[in-house]
Amino acid sequence: MDLKANHSAPILADPTPINKQRLGIHDSLLPCSPGTIFSQGLFLTLPWKKPGVLDDVRSTSWLDAMKSSSPRNRAKNNGIDFSSNDVDVAYRDWMLKYPSALASFEQIANSAKGKRIALFLDYDGTLSPIVNNPDHAFMSNPMRTAVRNVAKYFPTAIISGRSREKVRKFVGLKELYYAGSHGMDIMGPVRPPTDHNTTGTVRSTNEEGKDGNLFQPASEFLPMINEVFVALVEITKDIKGVKVEDNKFCVSVHYRNVDEKSWQTVAQYVQETLKQYPRLRLTHGRMVLEVRPVLKWDKGKAVEFLLESLGLKNCDDVLPIYVGDDRTDEDAFKFLRDSDRGYGILVSSEPKESNAYYSLRDPSEVMKFMKSLVMYKESIP
Ligand SMILES: [Mg+2]
Repeated sequence: MDLKANHSAPILADPTPINKQRLGIHDSLLPCSPGTIFSQGLFLTLPWKKPGVLDDVRSTSWLDAMKSSSPRNRAKNNGIDFSSNDVDVAYRDWMLKYPSALASFEQIANSAKGKRIALFLDYDGTLSPIVNNPDHAFMSNPMRTAVRNVAKYFPTAIISGRSREKVRKFVGLKELYYAGSHGMDIMGPVRPPTDHNTTGTVRSTNEEGKDGNLFQPASEFLPMINEVFVALVEITKDIKGVKVEDNKFCVSVHYRNVDEKSWQTVAQYVQETLKQYPRLRLTHGRMVLEVRPVLKWDKGKAVEFLLESLGLKNCDDVLPIYVGDDRTDEDAFKFLRDSDRGYGILVSSEPKESNAYYSLRDPSEVMKFMKSLVMYKESIP
């Protein structure tokens, strides 16, 4: 993967979990070093897709991509189950390239010495478990406490694909900054705009009556998104298990609960609908198809915007840390890597190619990591 690729050109390929099916090799040939697993060119990088066309890997169909995001398909190779030992070995090998942020915490703390940490957190799959009903992706009270505690010491923002209002309700903490719709709806701190990134910011009041700077770079797309939401609800209404979610500046079509035989129909309907909307594009997340404006704005841009808003963008003494689990988080990891600052931490219980530096296995490890940040801060005299 070309980590130096221009921001405006390629987008990241699906960080689809590595499995033997995807690698196309037999058990006995599974590489024992991560360098071999992730040899250059094995993973695909996508060009900007044409509007209205699935953002999926070039060499495989969209249906393969949908299947590859399914845990039940990841666990099999042509009907043959992986042994748990194989999975463990592959994960341990992968961690040589993406070390655990918990095991490497001392290293991270050393990097943070004399610096101010800014923490950016995805929501689904990072702070909350992935659940069948996206309306029920609640975070636990211990997790909420961990986020509240870490936010006492470090500026903390949630950057989610959900609508800003919805993710704010899920998290329920006033002391954070929230970016919804993959960063296309940001309520940041009150601060005079100082560069082009903050053009379009308007002073606003959030739901708790707190002043903030509201930035919605895709506001012109709102009527179109509303229209396509209604159209997608209508066209998919007879497919059992489909959930179409209005995320304000994007629409999610969840197929987690749809019989796999109907996945092709789901994708076809969505693609057909989007043919009428050339200014919208389709991306693919964990068991979800996402309709978004054709706009060069992503979670990486949102991190950059928030750092700017917080007055931290051009400071050498700032260490941004971004924690996320899905492909849309790769834009944020890439921003940090390309700008040679801070760390991306990928949350995954399976090997995935990523622009992150570190890994955490699941939300429970994310909680431990945040507790470690608090202990680190409290240990400083
Ligand atoms: Mg997520």
